[in-house]
Amino acid sequence: MEALGYYNGAYGPLDEMTVPMTDRAVYYGDGVYEATPTRNKVIYALDAHVNRMLRSASLLRIDMPMDTEALKAELKRMVALVDGGDNVLYWQLSRGTARRAHPFPEGTKANLMMMITPYRFPDLTQYVKCITLEDTRFLHCNIKTLNLIPSIMAMQTAKEQGCYEAILHRGGRVTECSKSNVHILKDGRLITAPADNLILSGIARAHLLEACAALGIPAEERPYTVKELMRADEILITSSTSFLRRAVSVDGQDAGAKDPENFEALKSYVWTRFLRETSV
Ligand code: PLP
Repeated sequence: MEALGYYNGAYGPLDEMTVPMTDRAVYYGDGVYEATPTRNKVIYALDAHVNRMLRSASLLRIDMPMDTEALKAELKRMVALVDGGDNVLYWQLSRGTARRAHPFPEGTKANLMMMITPYRFPDLTQYVKCITLEDTRFLHCNIKTLNLIPSIMAMQTAKEQGCYEAILHRGGRVTECSKSNVHILKDGRLITAPADNLILSGIARAHLLEACAALGIPAEERPYTVKELMRADEILITSSTSFLRRAVSVDGQDAGAKDPENFEALKSYVWTRFLRETSV
């Protein structure tokens, strides 16, 4: 089976699965999600993703329909049903099924949906171009909610300009990208925006910080500006499915690519970490 879907315990070929019109994810995007690669039927950084989903759900006051161990077991069961090649596992939890009304519905249980699809890992030796855009998202970017419209618009704009990502900023302060975190290296130090409500605290970001600690690269979690970005020695973009990409052009100007040694060391650390954790 190429791609598999799951909805509240029912499995089927992904493109044949349907959800009820009254699932609050359908008309409100009222839910949270996670996504991570799988390799050899191992879910990468499973605990970190499940813990973040619990945090996101709790901030939205969505009750988990099952306990944490049962959720992990359900995710692992899903992965066991498909080929052991490279895949991406996506799962989301919506507040429940009810007629449309803004307040939380009573007497419904959260709906769990999962999808697993084949995935080709990116070639990390291919460097990428980005654009900068004003960040027009809301002030709850730390919650991994289904409400992604500004991110989708930003990503589409980047794509139309032949770019890999949109680097978002609020009045000149860099936040993150449409679906990744962004970091810079300057004078041998890593600078990354603080994990406040303006960014999603990425699991790949945590792995990058772990790499810095292991390699003796000092890391600062502090706000930085577009000006600093344009003068950075390296611009690094991270996410669970893209690992670590190197941006070498921003808004059509050459940028970064001035500290290849530290970039290579960080890339090698995060990729090796993935291979190690997903080998059998
Ligand atoms: N920031 C945003 C807005 C995202 O959507 C994502 C991933 O979906 C990330 C950052 C990266 O998070 P992670 O490293 O956990 O995949």
